[in-house]
Amino acid sequence: MTRRSPPTRVLPPTKRECATLERIGRDLTHKDIAAEFGISINTVANLAANAYRKLGAHSAAAAVLAHRDAHPWCGSRIDFGPILERIKASRMA
Ligand SMILES: [Zn+2]
Repeated sequence: MTRRSPPTRVLPPTKRECATLERIGRDLTHKDIAAEFGISINTVANLAANAYRKLGAHSAAAAVLAHRDAHPWCGSRIDFGPILERIKASRMA
């Protein structure tokens, strides 16, 4: 597997979609994310749905995994290295 070029057919999530996926990856609920961003739960659901569609994922877990590879093209400055380590650690716990 090469990570040098963006996966074909995958559009990078926007910064906000990226931030939503990051929180979903930490098992936060849509309600938690809505409260943090100061937006409605419906808006969070839309951000998540858009991100899933762009990543060709049909579940939160698949989206988080697909996002790991697409993230360098998100336009977000979140550093996913440490976050992914935390997600992995929490999945194993
Ligand atoms: Zn991202």
